[in-house]
Amino acid sequence: MGDAGGGSEGAAGGATTPRSRVLAAVPPPARRMPTAPMPPSPALLAALAAAGAAPRLGEPLGRHTSFRIGGPADVFVEVASVPELAGVLAACAAHAAPVFFLGGGTNLLVSDRGARGVVVKLGRPFDFVEWQLAGDAPRLRAGAAVPFKRLAMQTVAEGLAGLEFGEGIPGTIGGGLLMNAGAFGGEIGRAVDAIEVVTERGDAVVLSREQLGFAYRRLELPMRAIVTAVRLRLARGEPAALAARILEAKARRDRLQPKGHPNAGSIFKNPPGAPAGKLLEAVGLKGARLGNAMVSLRHANFIVNLGGARAADVKGLMDLATRVVRQRLGVELEPEVRLVGDW
Ligand SMILES: Cc1cc2nc3c(=O)[nH]c(=O)nc-3n(C[C@H](O)[C@H](O)[C@H](O)COP(=O)(O)OP(=O)(O)OC[C@H]3O[C@@H](n4cnc5c(N)ncnc54)[C@H](O)[C@@H]3O)c2cc1C
Repeated sequence: MGDAGGGSEGAAGGATTPRSRVLAAVPPPARRMPTAPMPPSPALLAALAAAGAAPRLGEPLGRHTSFRIGGPADVFVEVASVPELAGVLAACAAHAAPVFFLGGGTNLLVSDRGARGVVVKLGRPFDFVEWQLAGDAPRLRAGAAVPFKRLAMQTVAEGLAGLEFGEGIPGTIGGGLLMNAGAFGGEIGRAVDAIEVVTERGDAVVLSREQLGFAYRRLELPMRAIVTAVRLRLARGEPAALAARILEAKARRDRLQPKGHPNAGSIFKNPPGAPAGKLLEAVGLKGARLGNAMVSLRHANFIVNLGGARAADVKGLMDLATRVVRQRLGVELEPEVRLVGDW
């Protein structure tokens, strides 16, 4: 799909002066072929099966990321209940297998070589919402696999304020919590009452708001755990005003963000003082390209996959952007997108 105003992302345009200067400094990326997954031990597979899981070996993680990039997981498990999840995590702990929790995969750059150990994803039974709308303090309990966008739209339809900023945020509520996802001045952390987790050792625990440390695009949990559900407290809102806020946010996204090519949203967090996109544009990085990964022509804080891009290409552009912004502007960029797997 082409970009209104900015031209098609596919046609990077001529190599204009600042960009070509920048690209001249890019070393060619090392062409490392994706490695094969590591076969898990039969004992681990038996323990996972005993927990009720159906492990998949060598699942390509590119199928589970919005970037459409990522090599194989040694073991991939989609769990259907809290006891199954607890059993899977206990089995991984007992066999010293590293675990990665996958949400909607919309904020991840997974290595071309994939992820070693066990990748755990919550299945459909974790996509539920329980509403408690009576009284002055409306609340809801949502499973961690609920799509963030859908929940935002449902709350607005119920006349509830507090999540309308999430209209355009892809991924799950679980991933949104861990990222303290936000937009246009709102963030999910402000609405959280408590979260339900299963710890790495397999214990189901409820963590109250006081035990959680929400910061800019980050949540500190008191222990490593997978979120299974979230309890939110929202306010009553005026439906027409809520709907207007959604339309305004949508129009802004449509105007500013790239469309039609897989991406992972903002690559860098906004440093104090200026949006990362403005800094990247100022140093001439719009349209910079490595392999089939390109800094979006529409928004310089997005990298788009033009088709078949490798994680190494995206990482190469990230490293270049970090270096150039540091050298020219003295600003240190911090990735918002999370690097996953075997680099
Ligand atoms: C087009 C586009 C637009 C975007 N716009 C925004 C935006 O406006 N604002 C914004 O904040 N983000 C935005 N993002 C980024 C992304 O959508 C959010 O960060 C989102 O909340 C990530 O959720 P996810 O389910 O995809 O998590 P993932 O990307 O799968 O995971 C993110 C992190 O959370 C962890 N995690 C996921 N689920 C769980 C769980 N249940 N328990 C424990 N850990 C878990 C993962 O291990 C990982 O560390 C955008 C992305 C895209 C592609």
